[in-house]
Amino acid sequence: ELYEEANLDTQVLSNIRRAHFEEPTPIQRYALPCIQQRHDLMACAQTGSGKTAAFLLPIISNLLQYHADDLSAKCEPPSPLCLVVSPTRELALQTEREARKFAYQTPVIPCSAVGGHDTFAVSDRLREGCHILSATTGRLKDMVEKGRISLKKVKYFVLDEADRMLDTGFEPDIRKLEALGLPRKEERLTCMFSATFPDEVQRLAKHFLRENYVFLA
Ligand code: AMP
Repeated sequence: ELYEEANLDTQVLSNIRRAHFEEPTPIQRYALPCIQQRHDLMACAQTGSGKTAAFLLPIISNLLQYHADDLSAKCEPPSPLCLVVSPTRELALQTEREARKFAYQTPVIPCSAVGGHDTFAVSDRLREGCHILSATTGRLKDMVEKGRISLKKVKYFVLDEADRMLDTGFEPDIRKLEALGLPRKEERLTCMFSATFPDEVQRLAKHFLRENYVFLA
């Protein structure tokens, strides 16, 4: 079936079956191969479209296939390989849960850093391993500035619900991520998801995505 054709890791495939996903949603059908082929991506997607799995499945699979050494390395401070930034705590935690489902029985460890959770407890948990970090901007910035997370090893960067990030005034904070250590766009793969495409979202895309990015409307 269609997920099998996507060249995903076999444990990831078995986790997809375990989640009872029968067939890919349209966004998954288009975004998945695009990320597998290492294109940057800007995708129009609403909540409920299956956008979370659209980026998590190929990213987890790529981490397993190409970053085995990084997965087994101990890092201090914790240095995620994939960073997902979301506009709300709820969305960030939901993304972490979805990542746990698909990373089940693999060496990939998902975690989260969101406002409202005790920073020390979060730091302790991240130290146990943190390959996919799902975060809200405020808490992320705070923890990076305090040296509790390093963004230097990020190979996959996802900006989820970009239009809502802008609505809530997070643009300055997201633009600051590169100054906080996020590798340059030439050295990472970046995906942006947004339900709408006002000028501000397009400006952000120009800033964060490599020139030949794929646009999925
Ligand atoms: P999202 O749009 O990422 O918020 O996903 C909405 C919901 O749909 C989540 O609960 C997913 O677990 C679920 N979902 C995503 N892709 C599929 C699929 N291919 N088949 C069934 N459910 C899915």
